[in-house]
Amino acid sequence: MTIDELTKFLNERANGMRCPICKSTDWYLKVDDGVVRETNVATGYRQDLQAALGELITEFGGQQPKESTDQQAGKDEQDLLSSCIILRCNHCGRLEFFDRSFIEEQIHGKN
Ligand SMILES: [Zn+2]
Repeated sequence: MTIDELTKFLNERANGMRCPICKSTDWYLKVDDGVVRETNVATGYRQDLQAALGELITEFGGQQPKESTDQQAGKDEQDLLSSCIILRCNHCGRLEFFDRSFIEEQIHGKN
C-alpha cells in the first residue's frame, strides 16, 4: 500500500485523523519508496507489550488476561502485532498503531 492510499483510507474512515493528545493533524510515517513500511511489533517487545497491555486493561476496569493458559489467543495477538503501521504525531510524539493487513484488505479487497 502506498502512503497516498493509506492517507485516503484514513481520511475517509477517520475524517482527517487528529492526535488525541494535542489535536495536531501532522503525522509521521515510515515509508520506503512511497510504500508504507510494515513494522513487526511482536519481535522482541512482546513480553513488555503484553505486560503494558495487561496493566492498561486492569486500569480501565477489565480483567488481566491469564498468562500462557490460552495458546491460541497468544498466537492471534502475535499475528496482529506482526504487521503494524505506526504513525507518530509530529507535534507531541504520540504513537498510533494500525493493523496493516486489515487496512490492506479494506483498500484492495481479499486476494
Ligand atoms: Zn500529538
